[in-house]
Amino acid sequence: MAALTALGLVALTQPIQSLTLSTVLVALLANQIGGIAPDIDQPTAPFWRNLPVGHIVGKIVDKAMGGHRFLSHSLLGLALFAFLAQALLHILQPILPHVDMHLVWWAFIIGMVSHLVMDMLTKEGVPWLLPIPIKIGLPPVKRLRITTGKFAEMFLVLPALIGVDMWLFASHYGQLLAFIHGNLIH
Ligand SMILES: [Zn+2]
Repeated sequence: MAALTALGLVALTQPIQSLTLSTVLVALLANQIGGIAPDIDQPTAPFWRNLPVGHIVGKIVDKAMGGHRFLSHSLLGLALFAFLAQALLHILQPILPHVDMHLVWWAFIIGMVSHLVMDMLTKEGVPWLLPIPIKIGLPPVKRLRITTGKFAEMFLVLPALIGVDMWLFASHYGQLLAFIHGNLIH
């Protein structure tokens, strides 16, 4: 939900341009993958849970990445994922000729950054500056942050995000409609 909200906020600040429907759909998918990608270092994460042998592979990756909220939750990890995503999209380009891979890449990055920003709201914080082992959170006072999977996440953060999405959708409805009619191309 955070990935989608962030993507919506960024998309609305950009000048309207013509996009293919495939670009929009692949970008939405990449955005959601970006949104769960950092938790590749967590064996219990949705990322692994939803794969057939996920929890076994998850445990191995967990060891390799240095445990929960480590490399994949840092600027270094972000750069690494950005590089890997670009390489993968480059390989996929011939199979998906009508997809603007540059935009898909940005949608992935926005999803991933939104994940890290949301993790900052939790007590654990985010080790943005690895290998410097400081965990940074928002607000800086740990006591004021939320506990993952607890009341505040479900009843404050999620409704807030849904609220922002509904506001975005309602306040830009005309723009969205104009885009679908005039700028969605084959
Ligand atoms: Zn995370």
